[in-house]
Amino acid sequence: MKCDVLVVGAGPAGCSAAAASAAAGLKTILVERKPEIGVPITCSGAIGSYLLPYLPFKTPSYLLKHRIEGIEFIVDDISYVRRGGPWSSYAIDRSAFDKWLAQRAVDSGADLILSAEFIDATMDRSGGGGRAQIKKEDEIFEVEFKVMIGADGAESRVLKSLGERVAGARMGQAVVYEYEGATLESPELDQLYFGDFAPGGYAHIFPLSDNRANIGVGTIDSDADIRQCFQDFIALARVAAQLKDARQTLEKSGTVSFEPLSRKRQYGSVLLAGEAASQNIKPLVEGFLPAIICGDVAGKTAARCLQKGEPLSSYQRNLDRRLGLILRESDRLISLLEDISDLSGRRSYLLLSGLCGNLISPGAVSKLIHGDEERITSRLESWNKSKLKQILLNASERLAIIYLHAHAAVNRKIYKL
Ligand SMILES: Cc1cc2nc3c(=O)[nH]c(=O)nc-3n(C[C@H](O)[C@H](O)[C@H](O)COP(=O)(O)OP(=O)(O)OC[C@H]3O[C@@H](n4cnc5c(N)ncnc54)[C@H](O)[C@@H]3O)c2cc1C
Repeated sequence: MKCDVLVVGAGPAGCSAAAASAAAGLKTILVERKPEIGVPITCSGAIGSYLLPYLPFKTPSYLLKHRIEGIEFIVDDISYVRRGGPWSSYAIDRSAFDKWLAQRAVDSGADLILSAEFIDATMDRSGGGGRAQIKKEDEIFEVEFKVMIGADGAESRVLKSLGERVAGARMGQAVVYEYEGATLESPELDQLYFGDFAPGGYAHIFPLSDNRANIGVGTIDSDADIRQCFQDFIALARVAAQLKDARQTLEKSGTVSFEPLSRKRQYGSVLLAGEAASQNIKPLVEGFLPAIICGDVAGKTAARCLQKGEPLSSYQRNLDRRLGLILRESDRLISLLEDISDLSGRRSYLLLSGLCGNLISPGAVSKLIHGDEERITSRLESWNKSKLKQILLNASERLAIIYLHAHAAVNRKIYKL
C-alpha cells in the first residue's frame, strides 16, 4: 500500500491529524490496533470549556453531556471553589466523541483500517519517507509513506521504533471508575481532593450527570500502589457518603505522559502528536482537547510540507502559534510539580492545591516550598475571606483567556492553522 500520510493511532490526535491531511487532498491512511474506536475508554471525560474555541470544528452540542461550573479544591478541612472562566468544563461521552472524530476523518477522505497494529518502520532519517510494517489478523503488510504521524498514545510504538524515547521519563498513572446512583453533593462541581491517598497527584469526583460520576485517583509517584490509593480515597467519609448507594459500572484507568517522552516532536519524516508527544496540559494533565488541536496542526503541517514544500521541522513553530502559550506554561510546571511531589504530608497537598487552583503562583510555590505550613494555609484561607481578591483574580484570569483566544485566532488567520 502507498500513501502520502500514514497516521498511527485513531485516538483524538490521530483522527484529527488524519482529517486535516485528508481534507487537504492527501492520500491518508489511519491505522488503529483496536477493533472498535473509543473502546475501552481510558479517560475521566473532563474537557475545559476555555479550549473549545481552539478546536478545528464546532463541537456538536450532543457530545457535551453535562455542564460543570467549577472546581472545588479540598485538602482535609480546607476547601475553596473556583468557578467560571478556566474552571468551567463539560463532561463528555468519550467513547461517542472518539467515534465522531473517527467518522470526521473518514468523511474527510481518510482510509481507516481497524485491528491494524503498527509494528515497526524503516525510515529515511533525512525526511524521504519510509515503509511501515502493519499487522492485521496475523498478517503483516507494508505501507509506504511520505510522512508518518505517530499518534499512538503514551506507550507509542512509533517513538520506540525511532529509538528516541527518553529513558525513565516519568509517567502518570490513574485509576478511574464510573459510578451510577451516586448522591452527589453538587453535580455542577468537580471535586478535587489532595491527600495521602494521592501522593504527588490528586483524586476527583467528576460528575457526568446528577447521579453519575467518574471517580479517580492519579499520581506521578511510581512507587505508589495506585489501586490501594483508590480504595483509601473512596473510604474517605465525604466520598463514601456520596457513593453510599452507588455501583461501579465501568473501569477507565490508564497512563499518561508527564515528562516529555522525546526531545523533539519531529524526526525526519515523522511527526508525533497527542500523548505520544506529551501534549497534555499540567497541572491537571488534560490531554483530550490538546490532542485534537495538536493532531490538526500535525495534519496541516504534513499537508503544507507535501504540497508547498514547507519543511516538516516547522511543526514545532506551528504548534507554538496555535497552542504554544498554554503548552509552554504547562511545561514550566513539570519540575515544580515534581519538587512538590518529593515533599510529603499536608504541606505538599496544600501547595499542590494552591497551584492547581491558581491561588499560589508558580513563583510563590518555589518560595513557599521550604516555608512553614501556616503561611500556605493562610494563603488559601484568605481567598475565601476576601471578596476583593476573588474579583481581581477572576477578572485577571478571564482577561488572560480573552488574550489567549485572540492570539490563537489571529495566528490561525495569518498562518492558516
Ligand atoms: C485514566 C485517564 C483519565 C484521563 N482523563 C482525562 C480527562 O478527564 N480529560 C482530558 O482532557 N484528558 C484526560 N486524560 C488524558 C487523555 O485521555 C489523553 O491525553 C488523550 O486520550 C490523548 O489522545 P491521543 O490520541 O494522543 O492518545 P490515545 O487516546 O491514547 O489514542 C492512541 C490510539 O493509538 C492506538 N494505538 C496504540 N498503539 C498502536 C499501534 N502500535 N498501532 C496502531 N494503533 C495503536 C490506541 O489503541 C489508541 O486508540 C486521561 C487519561 C487517562 C489515562
